[in-house]
Amino acid sequence: MTRARLPRPHEVAVARRDPRLLAAIDEQHADEAWRTRSACRTVDPEMFFPAPNEPSDAALALCRACDVRGPCLAWALTVGDCHGVWGGTTPRERRAMLVAWNERARPDDRSADPVRDRPGEDGLRPSPLVPAGR
Ligand code: SF4
Repeated sequence: MTRARLPRPHEVAVARRDPRLLAAIDEQHADEAWRTRSACRTVDPEMFFPAPNEPSDAALALCRACDVRGPCLAWALTVGDCHGVWGGTTPRERRAMLVAWNERARPDDRSADPVRDRPGEDGLRPSPLVPAGR
């Protein structure tokens, strides 16, 4: 069994702005029955758990066509699952996202509103996932 390394700071910084993570934040409570609409419900689950030296391309392609990527990724981040493909992300991507996801639960971040504080079209409003000064 290989040991996963911790995400590097630049990977976490990228993850904080990742549209997949922002969608997971927005949609985390939007569809409690998301599993019933998953594109992978009739697919062999093994496809989503490739060996470390195997590509995840087939699973990621299916995720891209799935309507419930946001809730799926939110679930994986909530339970801290870093195995397999969830919500169109690989375990390595999710480890970095998990740092950003967990930052939201810190007491000093509780006043942040993910919708209110998301960057606008102009990109000028701060994101709750991006610490001030970055
Ligand atoms: S996003 Fe991917 S892993 Fe999640 S339910 Fe859809 S197809 Fe399955």
